[in-house]
Order: sequence, then structure tokens, then C-alpha cells
Amino acid sequence: TEEMMIRSEKMSIAGQLAAGIAHEIRNPLTSIKGFLQLLQAGVNRKDVYYKIMIDEIEKMETITSEMLFVSKPLTENKQQESLLTMLQDVLELLKPQAKLKNVLLEINGEEQDIFCDKSQMKQVFINIIKNAIEAMEEAGKIVITIREVDNDIFIDISDEGPGIDEAVIHKLGEPFFTTKQQGTGLGLMITKQLLDRHRAKLEILQNEIKGSTFRIIFPKH
Ligand code: ADP
Ligand code: MG
Repeated sequence: TEEMMIRSEKMSIAGQLAAGIAHEIRNPLTSIKGFLQLLQAGVNRKDVYYKIMIDEIEKMETITSEMLFVSKPLTENKQQESLLTMLQDVLELLKPQAKLKNVLLEINGEEQDIFCDKSQMKQVFINIIKNAIEAMEEAGKIVITIREVDNDIFIDISDEGPGIDEAVIHKLGEPFFTTKQQGTGLGLMITKQLLDRHRAKLEILQNEIKGSTFRIIFPKH
């Protein structure tokens, strides 16, 4: 039946994902183990080895932070939540990373409640705003705008990065598609899945002057 088809398709995506993540985590682990063995043997150049190990651990941190709230769809808990509060929580979390790059984070617009699972929507905001910060090549501003449009709430997250190449725009959200050296290519895929669970949509727009805007369209009812 159609439902079975959909289920088996989901299984294969989950399987693909698990294999990919295992791979993403096994590589850094193997390299950390190797460097620890070298250190144990008493090599010189310790500073270099420490740096590589920290980089590898950061990569695993990224993967786990992108998946933090995804593992428990069964415990989904949807209720009316304040958008402003969720966004402020997320900005607090991302502030250190933004500060390092001299990026200001700003929220504009009206207070709105949305009916959602708070953890999942925070994960969505983390993944999109993290990308926005990573896209910024120099100091600048990321502006988040909340507004009501007909029966939807638009949440625009706008950066001043290089924007997105027309040729790859349709690949965003495919598992493991990344243009970054340290990327996982999982953030937007997870984001899209979480938005699906809320019947919300993601639009990606090119800004007129510079950068791109990720627009979440969230239904009011
Ligand atoms: P990752 O961040 O690990 O690369 P994502 O799924 O979060 O994986 O993003 C996939 C790709 O989408 C990125 O590698 C980047 O090329 C592109 N992208 C996402 N957000 C932006 C943005 N704000 N500006 C430019 N490119 C972006
Ligand atoms: Mg990302």
C-alpha cells in the first residue's frame, strides 16, 4: 500500500542517515585515537596534535548539536509558544559564535505565539541562524523579522553572506550536501523534516543587495 511505501522510504532515509552519521563520527574518532597514541609514545609537536584533535572533536560536536532535539519524535509536545522567547533563547546560545565573527543578531517585529514543539522549533532556528553566521565573511548583521501575512506567520532570517549559487540551491537540504570544509550537510535536512512535522514551509530567497533570506512560513492554525 501507499502507506507502506512511505514507511519503507522513511526507513531507508533513516538507514542512509545512520550510516552517514556513523561515518562522520568514526573518522574523527579514528584520527583522535591515532594522535593520542602518538602522544602516548612521547612525540614532539604536541601543539599540532592537540589542535587537530580539538578540530575533530568540534566536528563531532557540530553533528550532535544539529541532531540534539531530533531523536525523539514520539515525545512530541506541541503547545502555544512565544516566538520571541524561543528566538531569544536561541540567540543567547549562538551569541559567542556571532561575537567571534563580529556579527550582530537583531530581532524585529511583533510578538506572536505559534503552536509547536518548542525543542524542535528551537533546533530549526539554531540550524538556520548557525548557517547564517557561518555564511558571513565579514562583520555585519543578521536580521530576524517576524510578521503576520494572511493566515501565516513569516519568520525571515536574513544574512549578509555571499548568497547561494543558483546551481546548488535545489540541493540544499539533501543529506550530506555541504560546501563547507567542516560541514556535515545535515542541518537543513533536519530543519526541513522538523518543519514538515509542523506543516510549515521553508523558502530560500536571494537578497537584493547582499546575502540570502531563509523564510519559515508557519501556519496560524
Ligand atoms: P552544513 O552547514 O553542514 O554545510 P547545512 O545543511 O546546514 O549543512 O547547509 C548546507 C549548505 O547550504 C551549506 O554548506 C551552504 O553551502 C548552504 N547554505 C546554508 N545556509 C546558507 C546561507 N545562509 N548562506 C549561504 N549558503 C548557505
Ligand atoms: Mg549547517
